[in-house]
Amino acid sequence: MHMNLHELIRTPGSRLSFHRELSADRLAFPAILSYTEPPSGDGEITNNADILTLRGRIRAAMRCRCDRCAREFDKTLDLPVEARLATELEDEDDPDYYLLRGDELDIDDLLESVFILSMDQQMLCWEDCRGLCPRCGADLNEGDCGCRPESDPRLAVLGQLLDDIDQTF
Ligand SMILES: [Zn+2]
Ligand SMILES: [Zn+2]
Repeated sequence: MHMNLHELIRTPGSRLSFHRELSADRLAFPAILSYTEPPSGDGEITNNADILTLRGRIRAAMRCRCDRCAREFDKTLDLPVEARLATELEDEDDPDYYLLRGDELDIDDLLESVFILSMDQQMLCWEDCRGLCPRCGADLNEGDCGCRPESDPRLAVLGQLLDDIDQTF
């Protein structure tokens, strides 16, 4: 949706609040199985001495699949958003500003971009998820599977010695 900022741009000291329901279809990611609460953005845009700033939060609740262990888990997202808006820029690619088209702000595009950037990081069921054993596929969060870690060939001889000792006892 496009918001018309005509009045805001011409009235220093003014503010305009927004609430947007974002498109779950456009925010589809392999790690997100479904949204239990659709993504939405709330906040306001202020004109402070002709500097336009958008501040708000993006919220969503979703069912996810862990990138490391494939376990399903629920996650709530509460993401702060802060962006400076400009009606014109010398460098259109200036990452510090979001460029308006005339007096129009494509608010959904701005909020979706912030959301998409936040999906850069791995989706983990918990910070220290141990993932799956590369050998037997066991979920290492449930405990050790007993596989020996991949060993350095120089240590393989030692591994063999240890196996022999195991068998001796
Ligand atoms: Zn996990
Ligand atoms: Zn294993």
